[in-house]
Amino acid sequence: TLQDRLSATFKSLRGKGRLSEADIDATCREIRIALLEADVNLAVVKEFVANVKERARGAELSQALNPAQQIVKIVNDELVAILGGETRLLRFAKRPPTVIMLAGLQGAGKTTLAGKLARWLKDSGHSPLLVAADLQRPNAVTQLQVVGQRAGVQVFAPEPGNTSASEAAGVGVGDPVGVARRSIEEAERRLFDVVVIDTAGRLGIDAELMQQAADIRDAVHPDEVLFVVDAMIGQDAVNTANAFAEGVGFDGVVLTKLDGDARGGAALSIARVTGKPIMFASNGEQVGDFDVFHPDRMASRILGMGDMLTLIEQAERTFDAEQSAKAAAKLASGGKEFGLADFLQQMQMVRKMGPLSKIFGMLPGMGEIKDQIAGIDEREVDRIEAIIQSMTPAERDDPKIIDGSRRARIARGAGVEVSAVNNLVNRFFDARKMMSAMAGGKGMPGMPGLPG
Ligand code: GDP
Ligand code: MG
Repeated sequence: TLQDRLSATFKSLRGKGRLSEADIDATCREIRIALLEADVNLAVVKEFVANVKERARGAELSQALNPAQQIVKIVNDELVAILGGETRLLRFAKRPPTVIMLAGLQGAGKTTLAGKLARWLKDSGHSPLLVAADLQRPNAVTQLQVVGQRAGVQVFAPEPGNTSASEAAGVGVGDPVGVARRSIEEAERRLFDVVVIDTAGRLGIDAELMQQAADIRDAVHPDEVLFVVDAMIGQDAVNTANAFAEGVGFDGVVLTKLDGDARGGAALSIARVTGKPIMFASNGEQVGDFDVFHPDRMASRILGMGDMLTLIEQAERTFDAEQSAKAAAKLASGGKEFGLADFLQQMQMVRKMGPLSKIFGMLPGMGEIKDQIAGIDEREVDRIEAIIQSMTPAERDDPKIIDGSRRARIARGAGVEVSAVNNLVNRFFDARKMMSAMAGGKGMPGMPGLPG
């Protein structure tokens, strides 16, 4: 995976000043491969990597992150930005009904999506009406009716007589524009506050179908036209999106079939090329397999390194550069000034990031010590915290003064045995020895909360 490749590229780099040109080139090469493997359009990849390089060159080296992590963070930020930043939610009309029109190729998942969207709207307190404006395929209306039933939502369809006539003829002779228009009147009359219009698509880009979609659009003035696209189509996504942007125009994108093994490159290509936000994600055939689109989740899917991104986020959130610099300075002075208060603070900083075993598991290159770490008992850490908190400031600064009577007092305050206090004090002196040795030596690359 990209994660493995990157951590191999940067085993122990954690320097000062700027990222080196060689670091940037090496990381960008790996990222380029990751994007291409995710099926991102080549032109988009090129432009993207160039932007990242530019930004990485100007970036100060972060104290919280190693160079690989830092570039990954830049890449991630850029991906999230292109994918729309914040999740864009539906805009509802000031005067109901809000009209949502779905457009996209045949098989993209429009009809399935219509049901999911309607159900989601219903669950969030709306009263949606599904509209069968796909009269192209004989079974399309029936399919929407089944979908509507599963979603527990009303379906507006052409008169049965007309439908069977066109079905008998074997061609789509109905009047989808008329159906769409009448559905709005119906919604007003029966007080549905959202109308979701399902439309026809063909297997390829088709001028006639595009015109039909444009006609429906002009008849109902949708508040949102959503372009529904199969995430598995990869490189073709750009052409299809462009054709629909030109032929019908759309306000947002829905990605379907994300339950498949697509790495999501289509998302990035479409978002970059059309500049439209991806609003929903469809990930299965059931009516509940649906969610609003989260740019950050898609970014980590594209990069294939969700774990590292989680770690980067957590490291940044909890890393207090100033505090750590102070602690590092104390250690550099031989460790004698590094007291229990610093110890506690470092431990709390690391703890804020989550269970210790998980944190270490996510650190690249930490595989070897993972097993040892897995043995750390979180309750033990709680106990250590309680003990340190029962000490006076003077005791924390200089644990050497903690004699027998102080130990007994601390143990009572923390609700532990005296032996636990003894253990901690001994362990602290060991840790201080070890940490001052590390401060003089290589240190641990990019380990947040511990001075390296
Ligand atoms: P439409 O032609 O755009 O209306 O597409 P449909 O809604 O009829 O979907 C085409 C096929 O894709 C159907 O077999 C659906 O069950 C399937 N499908 C739709 N959305 C998803 C999805 O998110 N995941 C999976 N696995 N299949 C989907
Ligand atoms: Mg359909």
